Amino acid sequence: MKIVITEFMDDAAVDVLRAAFDTCYLPTLVDQRADLLAQLEQVDALIVRNRTKVDAALLAAAPNLKVVGRLGVGLDNIDVAACAARGIEVIPATGANARAVAEYVIGTAMALLRPAYTRSAETAAGKWPRAALSNGRELSGKTLGLIGFGGIGQLTARLAQALGVHVIAYDPMFGPKAPVWAATGVACTRIDDLLRVADIVSLHVPLVDQTRNLINATALAKMKKTSILINTSRGGIVDESALAQALHASNLGGAAIDVFMQEPLAADTPLADAPNLILTPHIAGVTEESNTRVSAVIATLVGNYLRQKQSL
Ligand code: NAD
Repeated sequence: MKIVITEFMDDAAVDVLRAAFDTCYLPTLVDQRADLLAQLEQVDALIVRNRTKVDAALLAAAPNLKVVGRLGVGLDNIDVAACAARGIEVIPATGANARAVAEYVIGTAMALLRPAYTRSAETAAGKWPRAALSNGRELSGKTLGLIGFGGIGQLTARLAQALGVHVIAYDPMFGPKAPVWAATGVACTRIDDLLRVADIVSLHVPLVDQTRNLINATALAKMKKTSILINTSRGGIVDESALAQALHASNLGGAAIDVFMQEPLAADTPLADAPNLILTPHIAGVTEESNTRVSAVIATLVGNYLRQKQSL
């Protein structure tokens, strides 16, 4: 059985696969589309992150493909319906990077509430901007509004509650009587109420038709002028031009954005010079620890799936 891995994976997990299968680890293959397609004729398993487009062209080039392992959770780069039609199993690393994302939310919320952390240069230069930087806010006592209350949303709620944060959430999968609210101590809200009252709004939804452009100019206008927006979910859920405008106009307290409509960002992105904005290159879910966990989970699950197919 042959495996091709097209993006970075923890070495120890790659070695586990190499010990049992013909494994080709080419972490830059994602950027050489023609080479990638040419490698797939004999391939039984493909392992990808979020940048490899598993689309009709790729599937056509891989007639023996049986399983796609996803080193992460979002499946918007994979044509899941086309895989299902071909009987190709798609295996995400559910839960394995949730802690990294949840800690990113807490960390960026704290950094944006207290801008002093990003002003070292002035202190080093002897300017001593103590008066200007004495307006930082504490996370404790604030209201965190989670849009999407799945695995990552629920873990983020637990971390925030431990720091004294009041957590509310909106998720159409859970009605007001769903047991999850009592079990987590999180208040079920409607999205408009959440946008109006939350001090921090954090997005944890998949990119689907219902979530595309969910946080547009109208939604941003409902938020408090002091509120913070955090998007670790997917680009396309936040309207980037509307966000930049809201930040420039001081209609929003700040934002941390990890995922974008176009990745890498285009040179003319409206976000380039917006104030109170933390931009990161789609790394909220990627830490040393989460890479180890995600890679180990996918090596085990893809390996088991291939062994099961072999034994048929
Ligand atoms: P999950 O499937 O456990 O939870 C997603 C939740 O969103 C579900 O409960 C679902 O009911 C809810 N939802 C769907 N449509 C909604 C809507 N219109 N409004 C509100 N809620 C809605 O997924 P998860 O593991 O919590 O991950 C959430 C997202 O985070 C993923 O889809 C992925 O795109 C993203 N992610 C990003 C990174 C990163 O590095 N930036 C890492 C991991 C995950």
